[in-house]
Amino acid sequence: MKILIATWNDHKFEEILQIMGDTNISFLSLRELGIKSEVDEDYNDYLYNSIKKAREFARISNIPTLADDSGLEIDCIDKYPGPLSARFFEGFDYKIKMKWILKMMKNVKDEDRTARFVCAASLYDPVEEKVYSTIGKVEGKIAREIRGENGFGYDPIFIPNGLNKTFGELPSETKNKMSHRYIAFKKMKELLLTLYA
Ligand code: IMP
Repeated sequence: MKILIATWNDHKFEEILQIMGDTNISFLSLRELGIKSEVDEDYNDYLYNSIKKAREFARISNIPTLADDSGLEIDCIDKYPGPLSARFFEGFDYKIKMKWILKMMKNVKDEDRTARFVCAASLYDPVEEKVYSTIGKVEGKIAREIRGENGFGYDPIFIPNGLNKTFGELPSETKNKMSHRYIAFKKMKELLLTLYA
């Protein structure tokens, strides 16, 4: 059984492989299949974007395809940047994006700094023309300053509940065992095993 993981990000591909662990499914990347197309993640909704991406790449490859979409939701700014996280202040360095967020939240009290990372994962089966989706969330708070060098994106300003370090300060093994992506893909693994094992 072969499944395509629709990402150009090698780091994300490896992270997903680790979560999937040992199974009788072989996971392929876009690079391995020589697929060059891009799919625009233009919906303001994680689930729609992940379904759109999975379906488009499944049509191109004719292989069941897994895709995800994720982002950071900050409650006090209307769940911004949300599904548009990658496009928020596009072209600017993440340090600048994070500084801008922290500046906007300068007067926000600790108890109102709630936020979450959300990930939607979808599998599209081109033979059955069926889609299966899972969601993962990790709740936390926005820090008062940029802390840590690990991870990527908004990791240095996100403190997961129950810890007092940002994702940027935590070792990647710790983050990858509690992240929104981990939760969504763990559920997806269970689903894949019931569908294809
Ligand atoms: P993608 O859908 O996984 O490509 O993520 C979209 C955007 O959400 C990324 O470019 C980041 O801005 C943000 N994001 C998603 N997951 C994470 C994470 O684990 N840490 C930090 N930022 C993230």
